[in-house]
Amino acid sequence: MIKAIKKNYITYYQGNIPIILSAPHGGEEKPSDIKTRTKGVFEKDDYTYELTELIIDEFYKQTQQTPYTVIADISRVKVDINRAKEDAYEDEKASVPYNQFHEFIKKSKSEIEKKFSRGLYIDIHGQSHPKGYLEFGYLLNNSIIKQHDSLLKEKTNIDNSSISALSKFSKECFIDQLRGPHSIGSLMCNKGYDSVPSVKLPYASDDNYFEGAYNTITHGSLNGGNISGIQVEFPYKDVRDTNKNRERCAKAFVSSLLTFIKIHLDLDLKR
Ligand SMILES: [Zn+2]
Repeated sequence: MIKAIKKNYITYYQGNIPIILSAPHGGEEKPSDIKTRTKGVFEKDDYTYELTELIIDEFYKQTQQTPYTVIADISRVKVDINRAKEDAYEDEKASVPYNQFHEFIKKSKSEIEKKFSRGLYIDIHGQSHPKGYLEFGYLLNNSIIKQHDSLLKEKTNIDNSSISALSKFSKECFIDQLRGPHSIGSLMCNKGYDSVPSVKLPYASDDNYFEGAYNTITHGSLNGGNISGIQVEFPYKDVRDTNKNRERCAKAFVSSLLTFIKIHLDLDLKR
């Protein structure tokens, strides 16, 4: 098992499989020398730090390998790492953890591109929408994914998504990658975790849906490269709320991810 490195309020695992996990909003540290933010969102994504570490453990159980992982120890009240610089912090001192987080992801990406020539980046969050679904974000908002497959599969949507690079490795089409039976949403539905988008829930019927933000834009394949990105928003109830539920969810998520990677990245990591 690979040991974590801690630097500038960021925890880093230098992994050995072509998967990168990041968790920007689960940290609690509030260094007094960094000014607290006065505008924006301050809410912590409760237990996403813990859930991300359980996902690492589960990867180890199922593959004997460790994904690259970048976790913010610092609280969102000091820096919102999932925002462009100008909206992320008000005190220049917060640029140190902010840059460290993104540097670790860039370093992971360049190692993966060199060693494996393709990969997957997952940005882990928590949300409190009333329906309690898992939401997988590909940078296409709910009004776009609401469309019929014949419109959704247009090239502009593929190009604007964070997973356009999957087409180089997957035998399945974009719609299947996004919400077909082998999409990550449908694979999680099969394990009892209702997810948007999926075969069961192709879009959010109540419009509550997060399509992904700065990290997914920056570190997915929108700007090129062979590493696709997906944002995941885990609900609280029955998923993040207790250690037992977090363990159960981590197990289902890793198992689904391994199937997804096998089908859409042509990589078999299961041991
Ligand atoms: Zn978040």
